Amino acid sequence: MNLKLNQILKKFFFDSSCSICKKEVEDDEIYICKKCREKIEKEKSLHVRKNIYYLFEYKNEIRKLIIDYKLNGRKELSCFISKIIEDEIIKIIRENSIDVVIPIPMSEERFLLRGFNQVELILDNIGINYKKAKRKKETIPMHKILEKDVRKINIKSVFQCDFSVNNKNILIVDDIVTTGTTMLEMIKSLEETGKPKNIYIFAISVAPTFYKKFL
Ligand SMILES: [Zn+2]
Repeated sequence: MNLKLNQILKKFFFDSSCSICKKEVEDDEIYICKKCREKIEKEKSLHVRKNIYYLFEYKNEIRKLIIDYKLNGRKELSCFISKIIEDEIIKIIRENSIDVVIPIPMSEERFLLRGFNQVELILDNIGINYKKAKRKKETIPMHKILEKDVRKINIKSVFQCDFSVNNKNILIVDDIVTTGTTMLEMIKSLEETGKPKNIYIFAISVAPTFYKKFL
């Protein structure tokens, strides 16, 4: 088989379009073309507000990239995303003497659908150790919930941590923070588990709904 035919077949069987501009990528590029790669690198900047760190506003190129990575299951994009965040996240861990890194857990349904946890995969690529928090299962069937119980159930934490957090500096990691609800749930669970020293947040991107309200 000559090279040309090989390339034609490859293009036929694999969608090799760029996640961002949708143009065909070169053979040595995986799901992202050079131009878009450079754009993202240029747009990146580390923002710090209180205990929250983030690299991008969730819009334009980074939004397209994360959507393609997560929703279209383009797992290979994790290599590029890892490279973008690597230096900054390592610096944050070092400077804040982080003891425990916790990625936000996915729901079981989403995990089954996607087959991978997008944040864990990125941390694995960089070689960062982390502890897994669990998402609690809803034990009471919805139709059995009485009006008076609703509040009680809502204030119960969603996550569960089976490890010590006492006197530890903790870094919670997520790809996008939209409303901040999940982050608050995670913080609540940590505070229910023990007495952490400091809790920091690292998000690859933050949606305007969040930073306009909180940052
Ligand atoms: Zn592109």
